[in-house]
Amino acid sequence: MISWFEIPEDSDFSLANIPFGIFRTEGRPRAATRIGDSVIDLDVLHKAGLFSGINLPEEIFSQSVLNDFIALGKPTTNRTRERIQELFDASNGELRDNWATRVDAIRKADGTDMLMPVRVGDYTDFYSSREHATNVGTMFRDPNNALLPNWLHIPVGYHGRASSIVISGTPLHRPKGQTKADDAELPTFGPSRLLDFELEMAFIVGKSNDLGTSVSVEEAEDHIFGMVVFNDWSARDIQKWEYVPLGPFLAKNFGSSISPWIVTMEALEQFRSPSPKQEPAVLPYLEMKKDHNFDINLEAIIETESGAAKTVSNSNFKHMYWSMAQQLAHHTINGCNMNVGDMCASGTISGPTPDSYGSMLEITWRGSKPISMPDGTERKFIQDGDTVIMKAFCEKDGKRVGFGEVRTKVLPAV
Ligand code: MN
Repeated sequence: MISWFEIPEDSDFSLANIPFGIFRTEGRPRAATRIGDSVIDLDVLHKAGLFSGINLPEEIFSQSVLNDFIALGKPTTNRTRERIQELFDASNGELRDNWATRVDAIRKADGTDMLMPVRVGDYTDFYSSREHATNVGTMFRDPNNALLPNWLHIPVGYHGRASSIVISGTPLHRPKGQTKADDAELPTFGPSRLLDFELEMAFIVGKSNDLGTSVSVEEAEDHIFGMVVFNDWSARDIQKWEYVPLGPFLAKNFGSSISPWIVTMEALEQFRSPSPKQEPAVLPYLEMKKDHNFDINLEAIIETESGAAKTVSNSNFKHMYWSMAQQLAHHTINGCNMNVGDMCASGTISGPTPDSYGSMLEITWRGSKPISMPDGTERKFIQDGDTVIMKAFCEKDGKRVGFGEVRTKVLPAV
């Protein structure tokens, strides 16, 4: 796809991508897409009549979230995406030759104020990387029985908290809470000392299902609008003390950060990938008849307050043992209703080698192998003033579709 519009060759936001997001302009939220280094105001294109062949409500792109747009359904949202590709195609003059609309609609991405793209009703976090579950099980339980007996049979997950999911660029304060040292008799209260990131991706539900109904593995991708990069911040010391018997609570709900652009499943289609072999065989309701995994390169970077940056992980979404289709099928098999805008995160995505582990817990093996930073300092976990940056992109046959980044600075506890 060649465009009349300038798109840097290595851009995450090629014409093959066309993600959706919300930005703020003149104090008002608007829906947008991103092409190259520019943000394209979809409300301006719509009001200029450039989507006239698609049945879109007049104010669909001037809302504060994309939920209503997504709820129009894939036939409409896909037509909108394809129409944007058409408008930016080298052979199309409808926007190219309309200077007034171009000036209004096209803005520099740099410095644009991006907002949460959806109102997240409910949020679920899975635990679907076998390598991550094995590493954690090895550290905290028994190296010989690292995976719990249910893990190879169930896409394990827990219900998280939607209210504290924040957009890239939102700083987070180090959480406070109860912790208890192994040799202490009683817990103490204070700032977490083992603040960690989790390198994850999340999908956004694009089609609701009614209470009492289920979504099959085959139908699941039709119920997924798209994906974002997801940093599931975790306080390991709080987690260790609180998680028995009901699982994560305050160690996880003080903040999760997402990248601003939702990359659609249609843009990811050409990067489909097989899943790791599932042995023992899964129960029939979780069986996959085709590839439901995706080849998405992932990177986690720590940047210190002095500006020294280091890549601490290079992983890939394709390592996921349980696919999103299986996660959604499992989530609804009991009749649980999912709503448009709900978010499901993958769980930490660790690869097979230490340089592909998706959390500091694993990278430094509980702090026993600190990493050295370019400014001479050391990291076991994340320190105040550090910024964690996560990036994701797909690349195949010279085509690139990426997510941009999610960036979060950690501020001291208050
Ligand atoms: Mn997580």
